[in-house]
Amino acid sequence: MMVDSAAASLASSPLSAEFSHSPHSGSLEDTLKHYFGYDSFRLGQREVIEAALAGQDLLVIMPTGGGKSICFQLPALLKPGVMVVVSPLIALMQDQVTALQVNQVAATYLNSSLSPSETRDREGQLLRGEVKLLYVAPERLFNPGFLGLLSQVKARVGLSAFTIDEAHCVSEWGHDFRPEYRRLAELRDRYPDVPMMALTATATDRVRQDMLHQLRLRDPFVHLASFNRPNLYYEVRPKHRNLYDEVLQYVQTNEGSGIIYCASRRQVDELTAKLQRDGVTALPYHAGLKDRDRFNNQTRFLRDDVQVMVATVAFGMGINKPDVRFVIHHDLPRNIESYYQEAGRAGRDGEAAACILYFAPKDIRTIDWMIEQKVNPATGEPLEQEQRIARQQLRQVIDYAEGTVCRRTIQLSYFGEPFPGNCGNCDNCRNPKPLEDWTIDAQKFLSCVARCQERFGMNHIIEVLRGSKGQRVLQKGHDKLSTYGIGKDKTADSWKHLSRTLLQQGLMDETTDGYPVLKLNARSWEVLRKQQSVYVAVAAQSADPDQRRETRASANADALFQKLRTLRKQLADERAIAPYMVFADSTLKAMAQQQPQTLTEFAAISGVGSRKLIQYGDKFIAEICAFRDEQNASHRPKQTLSETLAATLALYQQGLTLSEIAQQRGIKATTVMTHLTELIELGEPISIDGWIDSEKQQTIRKAIAQVGALSLSLLRETLGEAYSYDEIKLVRALWHHEQTES
Ligand code: ADP
Ligand code: ZN
Repeated sequence: MMVDSAAASLASSPLSAEFSHSPHSGSLEDTLKHYFGYDSFRLGQREVIEAALAGQDLLVIMPTGGGKSICFQLPALLKPGVMVVVSPLIALMQDQVTALQVNQVAATYLNSSLSPSETRDREGQLLRGEVKLLYVAPERLFNPGFLGLLSQVKARVGLSAFTIDEAHCVSEWGHDFRPEYRRLAELRDRYPDVPMMALTATATDRVRQDMLHQLRLRDPFVHLASFNRPNLYYEVRPKHRNLYDEVLQYVQTNEGSGIIYCASRRQVDELTAKLQRDGVTALPYHAGLKDRDRFNNQTRFLRDDVQVMVATVAFGMGINKPDVRFVIHHDLPRNIESYYQEAGRAGRDGEAAACILYFAPKDIRTIDWMIEQKVNPATGEPLEQEQRIARQQLRQVIDYAEGTVCRRTIQLSYFGEPFPGNCGNCDNCRNPKPLEDWTIDAQKFLSCVARCQERFGMNHIIEVLRGSKGQRVLQKGHDKLSTYGIGKDKTADSWKHLSRTLLQQGLMDETTDGYPVLKLNARSWEVLRKQQSVYVAVAAQSADPDQRRETRASANADALFQKLRTLRKQLADERAIAPYMVFADSTLKAMAQQQPQTLTEFAAISGVGSRKLIQYGDKFIAEICAFRDEQNASHRPKQTLSETLAATLALYQQGLTLSEIAQQRGIKATTVMTHLTELIELGEPISIDGWIDSEKQQTIRKAIAQVGALSLSLLRETLGEAYSYDEIKLVRALWHHEQTES
């Protein structure tokens, strides 16, 4: 494979040799620009990198797209020795290594896909100190041959750190538990002096704790970034009967790659076939496909051969395509965390992207049914605990889908991160529903929770409020409570809506062990003590379905962006790599806007590092210059003249005077004058010197400079009676033409 041989030659190039022996002397920013092309660090990156350089253990939790890679790649370049990166998926590994190699970073990987001679070659490079980053799968790490190699590497060139990517795989509480990850702590015993860095995008506290303990991190520097992804636009749409048409239209009118998640393999296949029939380039991805087909489809998606991947959740971790512009959920996700992760595959590059969830209440029944099927395969007994947790998670998803507050507030509160709302980039914030003051009702609700000893769920509380004679209410004696029956004026649905809002706004808590019990918190008491009002968004008014995404840049930059994309695709294909490895979307956009025409200007674009400047600079500059020439040419189109203008022009060119032309053509002299003015504006060589002396022409030009060319009457006023409208018009036409020329 061509990338491999490139790796070998890159590894022994003078650049990487310099870096493998001595730490870089310039600033961290210089190194960042040199290798990755970026001018500044994102929030948190610098602190993490400095801690890594100081040899500390690290736990880095950043959302997808936050920029985790640089956090370990840059230290790997600057520290002596080899960094071992444990990464769960072979496909992901190849991808990351290729992306590094195109930046001339000496990286390589070892896994079962290599031939014995390839493996030997790479081992040789490692021992000669020609490699800075070594990617391996966890299962390989503990085979005796590999451990032997590691010890040799350590002795000869040193190990700079162990980096555990996707570190949440160590936790059973995460969504991708991998038993092999459990053994990683053994590295601690074998190499106690080598720092360990764990990175993940998983947000829940339970998983965080697990990573710290399972990997036995030593007094680590912990970086926990906000999980807010400001560039993602969130929207929930009702599923109508014409769902397919809506999806089709969305895909056709939005450029760039997208993922459509469906609940079942059958739906994936059906939707793919329909889209293909309608001319969309789409491919399927699900666990029912052969490994090879899955791999091929994924590669074609990464390389922008197809626009859309229709997939089940099997299409997941490791798909680090940075320029996915939309993720559509055709069906309800299983829980908020899955939704956050799946939707989060959009916009890793930080550019605007959309996450759309289609919701129909009947989906709830489908999932509910699936939950009921969770049984112990041996005994056929229902798995009650699992079912309970699944039901609670489903309820949270429904709350999200039906929620009327900021979607970010709902998502982030799920991860325990407070968010003030009003994000301006979700459907609820862009089309806010009217708010009503429900403070009194909230007080009724919360005091009912208190009187029921904080030991019941939402439905029970509502039954008490509405004065139910249900068995459970009577049994518990809750018909004797002062809050019994005080909420008859509201429907059960309204109370549910209030209850959800209280949870979403953090004005009440709920236990999360599968038995959802409502609990009061400090803010609940503020409401009860009348220190805090409660506003509830009331039912959705008809939302504007034509909500447009970010306004697009100018049409000109847009057209150039498309051309640069085509060039990028061509260059990527020649090198058998994904287009984003040539340049990110954001970098192409910056090129399209700034239109650099020299290598110096080109180097200043964010995302252009030294290697890429040399490799691609000329090609992109040529494309940009060609585009500009084309634009300039097309701004002076050789208009085909209308018949009447052409006739006037022909007589003018024969040398006839104004009145002669009028006579010959049987039109008024003023009409001929209008024709001539238009012809001048169109750039026809017509001399006005015979009609207006040059001194007068100069005065008219001065007046234009003074008061502008827009208003004829203003010009006339400025110039005075001695100047006719026709004279002003002719000079102005000439002036206009000169403006468009330059
Ligand atoms: P993660 O692994 O956290 O999902 P990545 O490391 O893949 O994120 O980075 C996401 C995107 O952001 C990539 O396209 C990367 O090149 C870009 N990126 C990372 N750091 C910076 C930076 N300091 N400036 C600009 N872009 C950056
Ligand atoms: Zn919002």
